[in-house]
Amino acid sequence: MSLFYPRSEEEVSNIVKSCDKHKVPIVPYGGATSIEGHTLSPHGGVCIDMSLMKNVKALHVEDMDVVVESGIGWMELNEYLEPHGLFFPLDPGPGATIGGMCATRCSGSLAVRYGTMRDNVISLKVVLPSGDVVKTASRARKSAAGYDLTRLVIGSEGTLGVITEVTLRLQKIPQHSVVAMCNFPTIKDAADVSIATMLSGIQVSRLELMDEVQVRAVNVANDKNLPELPTLMFEFIGTEAYVREQTLIVQKIISEHRGSDFVFAEDPEAKKELWKIRKEALWACFAMEPEYEAMISDVCVPLSRLAELISCSKKELDASPLVCTVIAHAGDGNFHTVILFDPNQEDQKREAERLNNFMVHTALSMEGTCTGEHGVGTGKMKYLEKELGIEALKTMKRIKNALDPNNIMNPGKLIPPHVCF
Ligand SMILES: Cc1cc2nc3c(=O)[nH]c(=O)nc-3n(C[C@H](O)[C@H](O)[C@H](O)COP(=O)(O)OP(=O)(O)OC[C@H]3O[C@@H](n4cnc5c(N)ncnc54)[C@H](O)[C@@H]3O)c2cc1C
Repeated sequence: MSLFYPRSEEEVSNIVKSCDKHKVPIVPYGGATSIEGHTLSPHGGVCIDMSLMKNVKALHVEDMDVVVESGIGWMELNEYLEPHGLFFPLDPGPGATIGGMCATRCSGSLAVRYGTMRDNVISLKVVLPSGDVVKTASRARKSAAGYDLTRLVIGSEGTLGVITEVTLRLQKIPQHSVVAMCNFPTIKDAADVSIATMLSGIQVSRLELMDEVQVRAVNVANDKNLPELPTLMFEFIGTEAYVREQTLIVQKIISEHRGSDFVFAEDPEAKKELWKIRKEALWACFAMEPEYEAMISDVCVPLSRLAELISCSKKELDASPLVCTVIAHAGDGNFHTVILFDPNQEDQKREAERLNNFMVHTALSMEGTCTGEHGVGTGKMKYLEKELGIEALKTMKRIKNALDPNNIMNPGKLIPPHVCF
């Protein structure tokens, strides 16, 4: 496999043109934080690493948008934006790049308030498999001008082209915020509170759930002493008075659902520390089994089905000999399990796959999806036909063939190999 580090769109275009001419596969590469084998190269070829293209090209404070090269990380971008009182509200894995985030249609803990990458990108510049460069939209906030090419590329996982430039919507850093935590006797109580909070009409900016095993992992990894019970974490934002009002309403909902130990933080450092724990929850799991690997499920269902899905998954997980944790972006109906297994033990691998399968099929039976945010890569291809139907997959394949007739862009990913038209 050859590695390229382009410094400009023109260099990307030249590399792609030459690969197309010689039918050489290309894997675009951002922060490599994706989880479903997106950046594997089963057919060899060329890797285009975007890490040298991370300039901010223009910031429009009054329009609340920014134009960046696609290799910039979301954390670097937020450091740049902070002095201007603005931020970009999507927070996937630390180290993820804006290009990779577009390509996976990612979200994160703030999606419950601000939407996913689909809702926060205004336009893109993309090098197509032919080497031609396309700009997908103007800088206007909304447009009804033709096919939505921006959203075609968002979520295409490097299979339709290389994203070189992105125009993003920005948000004002909230005037005031409070982070709250509380515990529940069962995970169903916690899930029920998530649903009741969303139905109350309160616009929480984060609503995250961890089960007792995940809290144990956090304690082990961070030398903490949090109560090892199903736990919800909330963030409320707005004016001081509005935040106080939201906190009181949610506190009442919690007390009606057997919640306890309600604590909240207003100090900026304490809040940062709490969210850091949540953001690093996946890595914390390895503190319990350092030699093991993790299989991570990422299912999402309509919100009203969340409590049922989590309860029935949890029964299955607790009965398994493997260590499994639950983490959920509960306000979106999106939940992950981290299943730890010894990669040298075939029976453990099979058990991890069985649990993952169980959760995906249960979510699909509830009108859900096999991936709320991590994307398809190679890992989720096998579920797409059941979720979307063969006609949808054939349509994807037609689009792929029209744009990439030599199948050079990230081949072997996203569209299952048996699909033809
Ligand atoms: C600890 C941890 C927590 C996470 N939390 C979340 C979460 O809360 N929400 C969430 O959605 N995800 C989460 N993720 C998953 C991951 O961070 C996201 O999928 C992220 O969007 C991947 O971005 P990346 O830059 O790392 O992309 P990569 O892993 O480098 O690539 C991902 C895909 O995008 C393609 N790609 C990359 N750059 C480009 C480009 N410029 N043009 C075209 N295609 C490109 C690649 O070919 C590949 O198919 C988490 C991961 C970790 C490790």
